[in-house]
Amino acid sequence: MKRILVTGGAGFIGSHLCQRLLNEGNKVICLDNFLTGSKDNIERLFDNPLFIFVEHDIIDPITINEPVDEIYNLACPASPIHYQKNAIRTIKVNTLGVINTLGFAKAIKAKVLQASTSEIYGEPLEHPQTEQYRGNVSSIGPRACYDEGKRCAEALFFEYRRSHGLNIKVVRIFNTYGTHMSKDDGRVISNFIVQALTNQDITIQGDGSQTRSFCYVDDLVDGMMQTMATSNDFTGPVNLGNPNEVSIKEIAELILKLTGSSSRVVYKELPTDDPTRRCPDIRMAKQALGWEPKINLETGLLKTIEYFKSKI
Ligand code: UDP
Repeated sequence: MKRILVTGGAGFIGSHLCQRLLNEGNKVICLDNFLTGSKDNIERLFDNPLFIFVEHDIIDPITINEPVDEIYNLACPASPIHYQKNAIRTIKVNTLGVINTLGFAKAIKAKVLQASTSEIYGEPLEHPQTEQYRGNVSSIGPRACYDEGKRCAEALFFEYRRSHGLNIKVVRIFNTYGTHMSKDDGRVISNFIVQALTNQDITIQGDGSQTRSFCYVDDLVDGMMQTMATSNDFTGPVNLGNPNEVSIKEIAELILKLTGSSSRVVYKELPTDDPTRRCPDIRMAKQALGWEPKINLETGLLKTIEYFKSKI
C-alpha cells in the first residue's frame, strides 16, 4: 500500500485518479480548495477508510501529518473561462503553489508528478507536437496566466531535480473529457453536450475549423499512473493525449448525432489566442510507458452523454 497525495483531487481528472488509486488498495490524501473542483465528485470516496480529504489551497504551505510516498500535482483551474476569470490566482497556483508542492516533496522525499499541459506549445507551428517542440506562446495574452504559469511549473520541477535530486515526472496533458466535468466547466465537450441535451444553441467559436484531439479521462488516468510507476531516470515531459485530431465543427455534428438533439448550431467570435490546431505525438509515451489511448471518441462521448443526462 502506497500513501499518495493528490492535489486538485476533487477536480475532474483528480477525482478519477483518487478513485483508481483507492481501487488499487492505496491510501489517498485528497487536497482541494473547491475553486473548480466539487464535493459531488468525491462524495462516494468518503466511504473508503483509506480516503482522507483536506480542504486546502496549495498557494499556502502544505503541512500534512502523514507520510506520503507519491504526489500528483493536479491543482489548477484548467478551463479557459475559469483560469481567465482567476488569472492572477492561476499564476500563483503554478508558481507559489508548485514551490509549496515541491518543497513538501523534498521534505518528505516523495516522488512528485506534475500535470502539465499541451498549452506549453501555445499556438503550435509544428504538427503533431513532439515533446522536443519548444512552443509558440504569448507571454502577454489572456491565456498567458495558464500557459506561462504551467511553463514556469515545468521549469521549477526540473530545477528541483537539478538542485535537490527530486524524483520528478512531468506529463503534458492534451484535451481530456469524460464524466465528472461540471456542467459549467466551459470547455467544448461539456458545453456542446449540455447544450444538445437541453435544446440550447450549440455555440461554435470561430468557424469551427480549429482542431483538438480528445482523450477520454480513463485513458489519461492510466497514462498518469504508468508515468508515476517509471524509474527515477524517466522524468518526461511526456505527452499524454489521443492523437485522433478532429475539428470543432465535427465534434458539434457528432454530439448532435449521438444525442439525437435538434439544437441549432450558432457561430460566435473566436477568443483571442485560441490555438488553430493541436495534436499530440505520442511516440514517447508508447515507447517509455507502453501506453496509448484505448477508448475511441464515440464510445467516450456516449459515456459522457449518459453522465450529463443524469446530472441535468
Ligand atoms: N469552443 C467552442 N465552443 C464552446 C467552447 C469552446 O467552439 O462553447 C472551442 C474553443 O474556441 C476551442 C475549442 O473549442 O477552439 C476547445 O476549447 P476548450 O475551451 O475546450 O479548450 P482549449 O483546448 O481551448 O483549452
